[in-house]
Amino acid sequence: MAAAAAQSGEAQPNRPISNILIVIAMQTEAQPVVNKFELIEDPHSPFPQGVPWVRYHGKYKDLNINLIWPGKDPSSGVDSVGTISSALVTYAAIQALQPDLIINAGTAGGFKARGASVGDIFIASDCAFHDRRIPIPVFDLYGVGSRKAFETPNLVKELDLKVAKLSTGDSLDMTEQDESSITANDATVKDMEGAAVAYVADLLKVPAIFVKAVTDIIDGDKPTAEEFLQNLAAVTAALDLAVEKVINFINGKSISEL
Ligand code: SAH
Repeated sequence: MAAAAAQSGEAQPNRPISNILIVIAMQTEAQPVVNKFELIEDPHSPFPQGVPWVRYHGKYKDLNINLIWPGKDPSSGVDSVGTISSALVTYAAIQALQPDLIINAGTAGGFKARGASVGDIFIASDCAFHDRRIPIPVFDLYGVGSRKAFETPNLVKELDLKVAKLSTGDSLDMTEQDESSITANDATVKDMEGAAVAYVADLLKVPAIFVKAVTDIIDGDKPTAEEFLQNLAAVTAALDLAVEKVINFINGKSISEL
């Protein structure tokens, strides 16, 4: 049995990718992808008993696809969005499934001043946090936790996707302090999971890419929560299409060909 690191994509840059882990925070975002690839829910998921995390899996062309959704929060019943759940499921799924590549797909807010429109699909070049302020030298950098996503120059060119920096925090709304941190992060899109997934992927040395569809314009005139809910269904359809194209591009290629 090879060691975990030897099975990961980084250790085998020239072998065709076979195992993909898709991490999606919300059921509304996950369901169309589950349907599209005819994934089935694993009744004996590799996760600890009692956690709400759900594993869907299936084979598509040459790929084993695993889609992990953190499920409904046991006490409130809503999707377990945010950094804690996404970091936990990413960790547990890497340990259990040894993916070659992680795709974190989801919705995001976008800044129109930086060229984002509702329905746009972005691939993140970098992920950082905007709500972890630790004003002590070096701890400040740890808090921001900026990490490069795995670079996919051929994929973004072929699929004609926009590339921009992503900023992550645990709130859907944005305080003034968040806003200045997002500006300092040079981000065009804002979500609640990306940098957390990037942190775990970096710890365990699995390449990760981030596909984010814009549901709401942060620097526009509509309240974020309202605009988010209004656009969620339509934008999710666009996200689903983008994920399908990304998966088709990845099929048959090695990590180094992305
Ligand atoms: N009111 C929503 C809450 C979803 S939280 C509901 O009940 O359905 C928002 C989710 O969409 C998170 O997973 C986050 O990553 C993403 N998202 C979309 N727009 C966002 C924004 N402007 N800021 C932060 N996250 C956003």
